[in-house]
Amino acid sequence: MVLNVLQVGEVVLRRQARPLTRDEVRSPAIQQLIEHMRETMREAPGVGLAAPQIGVSLQIAVIEDREENLLEMSAERLTELERQPVPFHAIVNPTITLGEETAEFFEGCLSLARFGAVVARARGVVVECWNERAEPVRIEASGWYARILQHEIDHLRGRLYIDRMHPRSFMTLENHHKYWKDVPMSEIREALGWSAP
Ligand code: ZN
Repeated sequence: MVLNVLQVGEVVLRRQARPLTRDEVRSPAIQQLIEHMRETMREAPGVGLAAPQIGVSLQIAVIEDREENLLEMSAERLTELERQPVPFHAIVNPTITLGEETAEFFEGCLSLARFGAVVARARGVVVECWNERAEPVRIEASGWYARILQHEIDHLRGRLYIDRMHPRSFMTLENHHKYWKDVPMSEIREALGWSAP
């Protein structure tokens, strides 16, 4: 089932979500929720979806960066973004440790449909959480996958990328596509006017 993705302004997007017990994660209700979140993310399409985005204030997010998402992108661009396919998985009750090095890239969110902005995020992270079977996992990620993890875990803490973005880089996805898609970040920064990190 494809669920409705809530848009910014809904209070559930600004709440700290509640952790789950192991039994809850393994319950038919939560297993079905995860399946519905997977279908909703694919339909959107998106590379991540957190439970608060569908109105459920629980610490669950799903992530998947499919190979077909990357087909239209040049090898050079994929290298720059450090972006590779990520198989479907869920993260439950995550904690995250950020690496010191940061990277700036343009990102969007299904809860701010049709907009995006440049956000500086850690290039590498370590996430400790449970998977969809409530088994403990440790994820060491870098590049685009690390960015997805940070974005989704922010959702579970009531944070959105607009809290972290360079405000002057906020724009419609249409204008991003039209003017800035292939422009190096240093030029975007200079043209729109914010300082280097
Ligand atoms: Zn989002």
